[in-house]
Amino acid sequence: MQFIFLGPPGAGKGTQASLLADLWQISHVSTGDILRKAISGKTSLGLQAQAHVEAGELVPDVLIMALMREYFGQIDRNQGWILDGFPRTVTQAYALDELLSIVRQPHPRVVFFEVAPEALVERMLARGRQDDTRDTIRRRLEIYQADTAPLVELYQRRKCLVKADGNRPVEAISHYLQHVLAQHQAKALA
Ligand code: AMP
Repeated sequence: MQFIFLGPPGAGKGTQASLLADLWQISHVSTGDILRKAISGKTSLGLQAQAHVEAGELVPDVLIMALMREYFGQIDRNQGWILDGFPRTVTQAYALDELLSIVRQPHPRVVFFEVAPEALVERMLARGRQDDTRDTIRRRLEIYQADTAPLVELYQRRKCLVKADGNRPVEAISHYLQHVLAQHQAKALA
């Protein structure tokens, strides 16, 4: 089971990824969490990423790809995963294609979380993360529109996109995804 969870910041990707990864015993790979850990541990990745994360800007693709190459280099071919917050640019999406073919991992299904824009700011302010100030939230939403939203069309063209209504309660979304993704999985194996 291999999935990409795509959507604007605050759409609930992380919550769903964590629930489903636990349920299916697969890995939950959150580039945001990895970066926050690296920053608090003051590793070389953290020091290079810190200013970008704090400003609500994207971390450069080369750093993110180095991190993902390391992840895919160490896992088993049959390992299941949910990528949460990656890819976030068209460059990252193409680099991921290449990486997956090198490590002979299947191309993932992509779940797109659709949420009303007004709800996003409130949700982000409510979770109280250090990079969730009004200014950085606005910047992150702008960047999402400019750099990440084009991935929806890219994956739609490839016919691997599943849409989830992120305005619904957590439980309802989780049930829906369990159902629809298990169906896709069964079809892929048939
Ligand atoms: P997130 O927890 O997914 O909202 O990510 C928090 C921050 O980490 C983002 O605002 C970016 O600064 C950085 N980040 C996370 N994932 C990526 C990525 N795939 N590409 C570039 N920057 C990222």
